[in-house]
Amino acid sequence: MAAIVGKWCIELGPSACAARRPSSGSPEPRVQIFFCGTRGSMPTPGAAFVRYGGHTSCVALAHDEARPSLVLDAGSGLVNLDGLLGAEPFRGTILIGHLHWDHTHGMPFFAAGTRPGHRVRVLMPAQGEDAERLLARAMSPPHFPVEPTALGNGWRFGALDEGDYEFEGFTVLAREIPHKGGRTFGFRVSDGTGAIAYLSDHHPLALGPGPLGVGELHPAGVTLARDVDLLIHDAQYTVEELPEFAHMGHSCPEYAIALALESGARQVCLYHHSPRRTDVLLDELAARFTVAAVSVTTAFDGLTMTVGRRVEPEPAT
Ligand SMILES: [Zn+2]
Ligand SMILES: [Zn+2]
Repeated sequence: MAAIVGKWCIELGPSACAARRPSSGSPEPRVQIFFCGTRGSMPTPGAAFVRYGGHTSCVALAHDEARPSLVLDAGSGLVNLDGLLGAEPFRGTILIGHLHWDHTHGMPFFAAGTRPGHRVRVLMPAQGEDAERLLARAMSPPHFPVEPTALGNGWRFGALDEGDYEFEGFTVLAREIPHKGGRTFGFRVSDGTGAIAYLSDHHPLALGPGPLGVGELHPAGVTLARDVDLLIHDAQYTVEELPEFAHMGHSCPEYAIALALESGARQVCLYHHSPRRTDVLLDELAARFTVAAVSVTTAFDGLTMTVGRRVEPEPAT
């Protein structure tokens, strides 16, 4: 079942991502972006969360006409990547922005990461400890029955420092950004024709004054978002909520828009929604930004976008 809201197609139901398998036939190289999980903090099942979805952070990137090969975060939305891949194994890299549960707990349930021929490289911010053992602190008995090394023979774990990289045919810039409770990276990803910035969990260094009165911009955020086609950014709180909850390490749409204006990002995608934000409340939030200084989209599980020489929604199905 699908419904059109504005110019975007919203897929309803558990096969949201499965309905959007990579297409073929494009004459131009482009980057396809699959929003497999868009919620922050914890999954949100229930009737009040059907349209925007309840899976936690996970975005999959594909070169046009190819299977997704680069994944940003492995929240519960990672299970939606199974549908995108059909019966194929995942062969690629998962970049974990930071190790909070909502960015890692999809990994043990990622069926495509167990299929014959799988190759899964998991990379996370370096923080002075072996990457696999760091992950195993939360993913091992008694917290969880399966350790990272038991996920499959083709899984590898490693740590990243800030810097420029090449993963799966994409150029990636990793920079540390302000968040709470563990080293956190934002990423800038490009295939040479289009670029996105991904700052899933990111907060102002201090409230006000800053642009729009919601805190000063962080230089790393500006660098990551410089001239990108699409800025995917933390919008966990409303601007009214932010003063009370800023200590939780998240941001608001106005901050994301201010960052886009400063950095030259051409479009903002509001992401990492509060688990308290129902469909109705997200509709209300999105309505605030139908007219804004930059184009603003509110992410939902199953949204696909394409960047390259232009940004456009996929045609409705
Ligand atoms: Zn998070
Ligand atoms: Zn976090």
